[in-house]
Amino acid sequence: MTDLRFRGAVAPLRRAAQPLPRSVDAVVARLRPEEPLHCLRPATIAGAAQAFRAAFPGHVLYAVKCNPEPAVLRALWEGGVRHFDCASLGEVRLVRSMFPEAAIHFMHPVKARGAIREAWTRHGVRDFVLDSAAELAKILEETAGGDARRGLVVRIALPKGSAMYDLSGKFGAAHADAVALLRAARPHAAKLGVSFHVGSQCLEPAAYARAIALAGAVIREAGVPVEVLDVGGGYPVAYPEITPPPLSAFTTAIAIAVAEQGLGALELWAEPGRALVAGGASVVIQVQQRRDGTLYVNDGVYGALSDAGVPGFRFPVRLLRGSSADLAPFAFFGPTCDSADYMKGPFLLPADVQEGDWIEVGQLGAYGASLRTAFNGFDRAGIVEVADAPLLETPGYGIAAAA
Ligand SMILES: *Cc1c(COP(=O)(O)O)cnc(C)c1O
Repeated sequence: MTDLRFRGAVAPLRRAAQPLPRSVDAVVARLRPEEPLHCLRPATIAGAAQAFRAAFPGHVLYAVKCNPEPAVLRALWEGGVRHFDCASLGEVRLVRSMFPEAAIHFMHPVKARGAIREAWTRHGVRDFVLDSAAELAKILEETAGGDARRGLVVRIALPKGSAMYDLSGKFGAAHADAVALLRAARPHAAKLGVSFHVGSQCLEPAAYARAIALAGAVIREAGVPVEVLDVGGGYPVAYPEITPPPLSAFTTAIAIAVAEQGLGALELWAEPGRALVAGGASVVIQVQQRRDGTLYVNDGVYGALSDAGVPGFRFPVRLLRGSSADLAPFAFFGPTCDSADYMKGPFLLPADVQEGDWIEVGQLGAYGASLRTAFNGFDRAGIVEVADAPLLETPGYGIAAAA
C-alpha cells in the first residue's frame, strides 16, 4: 500500500503574481482572462457573517462544503465566525490548519472510522452527528474513553420539503429511531443534541417551525436531558426573480417555535452555508462563440456553474462593456464536449453580445468553486479579490461592500 498515492484532480484556483485593481471591470481590462476568473468579495462575506450572527441567537457554524476557499474562510473569521460544520477529514484538516482556536463540528452522519479517530485525537473535534445505531457504535469505539468530553448530535429525518434543493432522502433518523438514539447516546455524551436540515435555498420560514416541532416531539418522548438544538442550514439568498423573505423572518419563526416547544433552555446552533457566502463571489466568463440565442462560454456545469445545469438556478449576469442594445434571453453551453453541459437560463444580456465579450455571473460564492471538476481538461481558473458590491443584494444581510 505504500505505493498508493492520492492526489486531487482539480487545479487550485490561481492567484495573480502582482497586485491587481480592486474592481471587476478594471481587473478584467488588465488581465483579459481567457479562463474563468473568480472574483471574491471578502467584505461582502464578512458583512453577511456579521449580519447572520447578529440575527441568530446561538452559535453560527459555517458549512464548509459550500465554499472551502481559504480566503473565504478568512473573511468569515473576520466576520466573527468561530464554529465550522465539517463533513470530511479534508475539511477538518483545512479548518484546523488555518484556525487553531476554531470549534469544529463533524456533521456528516456516515463517517470513515479513520476520519473520526484523527478528528478526535489530532484536531480536537468533540462534536459528532449520527443518525443510526451503527454510527453511534462507531463513534464510541473510535473515541473510546471520551464520555466526559464527547458531543453527540442526533439528526432527525424531515418529510420532503419545499426547498429548491431537497435533502430529505439521504440522512436522518425516523421518529422512533431518533428517540432510541437519544436514549442510547445520553450516557456517552457530555453534550447531547438534535439536528435537522430543511433543504437548501428554503424560502419558507415555516419549514423551520415544523422541523422544530418534530425535534420537540422526539426530545419529549426520549425523556432524557438534551442540551443542543441545531436548526441546520438552508437559509436562502436572492436570485433573479427570487427575493426571499428577510433573514429576520427565519430567525423569528425559529425563536417562536423554540419557545412553543419549551426548548428555550437549549443552546441553539445554525449551519448556514449559502446565506453567508453566495454574494461573496462572482465568476467572469468569456463568450467563445455565439449561435443565435445560445452562447458558448468558457465555464459550465462541470466548472463553477453546476447549479445552472440540471438544478436550473438562474444567476444574475452582467456584460462587462457598455451596450445600448435591449436585453434578450440567452442560454449557455459550457466548454466540455458533453451536451449536458448546458445552462438554459434564461440569462438576460444585451442583444448584441458577441464572441470575446466577458460576462460576470453573480451569486456564485456558494456551491460554485466547490463543485468544479477536472472533466475534459477545463479545470483552470483564476481568483482575485475585489471590493465591488455583489450583483444582487439579499434582504436582511445589510451588506456594506467597501466599494
Ligand atoms: C450542506 C449543508 C449545510 C449548508 O446548507 P446551506 O443550504 O448551504 O445553508 C448545513 N448543514 C448540513 C448538514 C449540510 O449538509
